[in-house]
Formats: sequence, structure tokens, C-alpha cells
Amino acid sequence: MKKVLVTRPMPDAVIGALSAAHKVAVRDDTGPMSRVEMIAALQRFDAILPTIGDAFSAEIFAAASEIRAGLLANFGVGYNHIDVTAARAHGVEVTNTPGVLTDATADLALTLILATARRAGEGERLVRAGRWHGWHPTQLLGQQVTGTRLGIVGMGRIGQAIARRGHYGFGMEVAYTNRSPKALDFPARQIETLTALAAEVDFLVVAVPGGAATHHLIGAEVFAAMKPTGIFVNIARGDVVDEAALIAALKAGEIAGAGLDVYENEPEVPEALRLMENVTLLPHLGSATLETRAAMGLLAADNILSFLAGEAPISPV
Ligand code: NAP
Repeated sequence: MKKVLVTRPMPDAVIGALSAAHKVAVRDDTGPMSRVEMIAALQRFDAILPTIGDAFSAEIFAAASEIRAGLLANFGVGYNHIDVTAARAHGVEVTNTPGVLTDATADLALTLILATARRAGEGERLVRAGRWHGWHPTQLLGQQVTGTRLGIVGMGRIGQAIARRGHYGFGMEVAYTNRSPKALDFPARQIETLTALAAEVDFLVVAVPGGAATHHLIGAEVFAAMKPTGIFVNIARGDVVDEAALIAALKAGEIAGAGLDVYENEPEVPEALRLMENVTLLPHLGSATLETRAAMGLLAADNILSFLAGEAPISPV
């Protein structure tokens, strides 16, 4: 029996799958691991199931020196909190959970598009405050979503799932930027530059991974290029967006609104954003359905079971 650490409480099925074969410790804390905890975990466990917030940086691997762990089976498709190069250099493999969260995250992007365009947050706050005094023809007028233009930055699994929903569900015309050319089974135009894409769409949605290569990919230039009626949506990672530039663009009326699931310094959300009525703010809910979280946990567990059985992990990064 090998020793496995699960760094957050998980659905029972996930712990059950691992416990049937190995000695499993579950960290009873919903917050990120501390530096000391991460170093101890690398030294004491054969495999670790970490997630967002557990910042396994190069410095942590170096400080652990005597590393027992051979695998970090990340819970989540995004793994920008793990220094994969440093992990490999210390003989630690990394896996993630692609695919199983695509639909839930795309659904949430549509939630943000609709909620922001149709001023759902404002409406809800009005009703809850007891300040709604009845229907009238000019109350809380928002923007139409059906038949408008949708721009996707990063046409990967989630980008495509958002685009399909926009095209088939809402009759939207889809355009996108992507690192490489894509063969798609629905109509969408690839555009050369981010600013050209930003200039022509009504909704600009970001779906690229976080990390050094995409840090502040979306900044002042992109917001300046957007239509003043444009709505910006981020379901990717907070560091992809220059948050200060986003706040400045919203304040200046360069764009009409924003729908955000992720933030540059999570869980800190700038007060400037919290005070804006035209911004929809969600607490990183992209994959947060019971079905999806169980599927993510089971895929992470399967990666651990394969690895500890001496087989190749299912979804290496
Ligand atoms: P994916 O299939 O790998 O798609 C990523 C897309 O981004 C690919 O099309 C890729 O282009 C493009 N890309 C990668 N690096 C780039 C760069 N440096 N510059 C420009 N484009 C780049 O990943 P996915 O499953 O769709 O997930 C995307 C991200 O969403 C994850 O990494 C995660 O951070 C985030 N996410 C957030 C939530 C949430 O809770 N809000 C939930 C799930 C995922 P190529 O085609 O050239 O590879």
C-alpha cells in the first residue's frame, strides 16, 4: 500500500476509489496548502492530489530536497499553480483533468454572458432589496444576446464548447483567435490579431490557460479596441487579464460590462469591481457542479491508481 494525500475534502466516491488500494490521508481544510504543508507532503507521500491554490513552485521542490512523491495529480484542467518544469526536474510527474469539466465551464460562460447582457445581477439586487415597484417599459433594459457576434480567445476544448452554444443555441456569429489553426465542425472565423477580434465582436470571452505565456494577454489595447457596447467575459484564469486595465476601461466606458469568474489575486476581488453594477462577479464556479467535481476527482484518482500500479498516467500534462 502506498501513501496518498488528498489536499481538500472530496466527494466520497473519490476517496473510496483511492482507499480501496492505498492508505489515504485527506486534508480537512478547504483553503490552499501552506509552504510547510507542501514541503512535508512531497517528503511523506507517494502521490498527492492537489488543486488550485496549492502553489507548488520551483522553490518548494528545491526546499523539499528528499522528495518521496512521484506524482502530483492535479484536480482541475488548469495547472498554472504548479511549476511543471521544476516538478519534472525533481522526478515528479504532473497530471490534470481535461475534458470532464468542459461542459460545466462552457455553461458558466453562457451564464456570465446572459447575466451581464441582461442585467440579471442588478435585477436580483433590486428585488432582494424590496426596491422593485413593478414592470415598466424602460426598466433595466439590457442588450440582446441572440443573433449577436461572439469572440473567443483560445479555441480549445472549452472555447469550442462556448462557441457551439453561441452558434447553435443563440444564432451568434463566431470569430476567434488561437495559438494555432483549428479544424472546427461548426462555422467560425479565425482572426489574426486580438485587437481585430475585439473590435468586431459584441461579447469577447477568454478561454486560454493561465501562466507565464498568457500573463496579461488581455490589456488596455484590447479593451480600447472593443466596442463601447462590448461585454468582456473571463472564465479562464485571472492572470490572463490586466485587471487594472479592465477596471480603467469599465470606468472610462470603453466597454459596457464584464462577467468574471476568475481574478488576478483570488480570492481578493477589487472593491472597484464590486461597486460596479454592470459587472457580474462569480466566485470561480466554472466546474462547480456535483457531477463534474465527482468526475474530476475520479479522473485524478485514476491517474494516481495507474501511476502507483506502475502504468502510464491517463492524462499527463
Ligand atoms: P485547452 O483545450 O488546452 O485549450 C486552450 C486553448 O488556448 C487552446 O486552443 C490553445 O491553443 C490556446 N492557447 C494555449 N496557450 C496559448 C497562448 N500562449 N496564447 C494563445 N493561446 C493559447 O484547455 P481547456 O480545457 O479549454 O481549458 C482552458 C483553460 O480554462 C484551462 O487551462 C483553465 O485555466 C481554464 N478553466 C477555468 C475554469 C473555471 O473554473 N473558471 C474551469 C476549467 C478550465 P492551441 O490550439 O494552439 O493549443
